[in-house]
Parts: sequence; C-alpha cells; structure tokens
Amino acid sequence: MSAVAGPEIERLIQLLARLPGLGPRSARRAALHLIKKREALMTPLASALQVAIEKIQVCKTCGNIDTQNPCTVCTDPRRDPSIIVVIADVADLWALERANASSGRYHVLGGTLSPLDGVGPGDLTIDALVARAHEEPVKEIVLALNATVDGQTTAHYITDLLQDANVRVTRLAHGVPVGGELDYLDEGTLSAAMRQRTLF
Ligand code: ZN
Repeated sequence: MSAVAGPEIERLIQLLARLPGLGPRSARRAALHLIKKREALMTPLASALQVAIEKIQVCKTCGNIDTQNPCTVCTDPRRDPSIIVVIADVADLWALERANASSGRYHVLGGTLSPLDGVGPGDLTIDALVARAHEEPVKEIVLALNATVDGQTTAHYITDLLQDANVRVTRLAHGVPVGGELDYLDEGTLSAAMRQRTLF
C-alpha cells in the first residue's frame, strides 16, 4: 500500500493509533481533524502535552497523578483522613471522584495480583498501604477493587496483611446496578445481591 502522506503525518497517525479506543481508521480521522484545526486544537494540545510532560508527577503518598506532590486529594483539609479507599488504578480514583462517592483519601495499588500475568505483591504498593494503615488517624480501609478473580484475590491478600492494624477493612457491595433489571443479571451478581441484602 502506498503512503498517502509524508512520514511526519504517518508518524502522527501511528502515535494516535496507540491511544486506547483509537484504531488505525479513527487515528487517521483524528490526525486529519487535528491538522485541519491546527490553531484551535493542535497547537493548544501540543502545549498541554508539553506542560503534562514537565509537571505531572506521581503522588508519593497515595499514587495519584497530579501537578503537585503530595497531590490535591492528599492535601485537601476537607477530606476525612481516617478513611483510605484502595483502588487498583488512577482511572478508578477518577471514577469514584466523578461519582462523588468518597470523602476519604486514596491509595493506588498500581494493578491487582495476577499470577498468570506475573504480577506479585512486590509489583504493587501493598507495603506502603500496610504502613499507612498503621498510621494515625486511619480507622477504615475500603477495598474498592474490581469484582474479578484478580481483584478479589488482591482484596483477600490485603485483608490478611491488615490483621494487626487497628482498622476496619471494608469492601464495596456486589449487587444489582442502579437501573438494573433482575431478569437481565448474571447468576453471580444476583446471588451476591441476595446474600448482601440490607434492611429496607
Ligand atoms: Zn496523594
């Protein structure tokens, strides 16, 4: 297949195609859009990327990404320092923040335990979490991990390590999604929802 554009444009397309959710076809469309909107979009995007390269860092306390360290969440005085919500990834932190679901602080593990993919405890920030759980004024560790085998294996592993810490270890409820119809739920979700029923 012959190239339709010079190597610079091909390179732009190839880089865009590496973004999640963008295949080669949508990468071409995105590249063309950027080129057409050079002043309005491509230039500001390039400078935003440059600023991100220079300023974004990983929070030493919680693993969140921000332009300050400790991050905005860790330094926010309105947040409850007695609750630490444990998540696998920064994307999960953002999801919980979008949902306004927690007033506590966070701890990003950097993944979940997965023997098949060769991810062991040493690859995650579990030691740092255990250390934080022993610090005042931490009272509760919320395990907000995926309801997958790896997520739940990780939750059990962490719970065992927190036996000596003077904290309450909780996890997210598994059950009927908001707006969900019982008839469409899988058996695992339905039986978990029945087991974890609450007083009306
Ligand atoms: Zn932080």
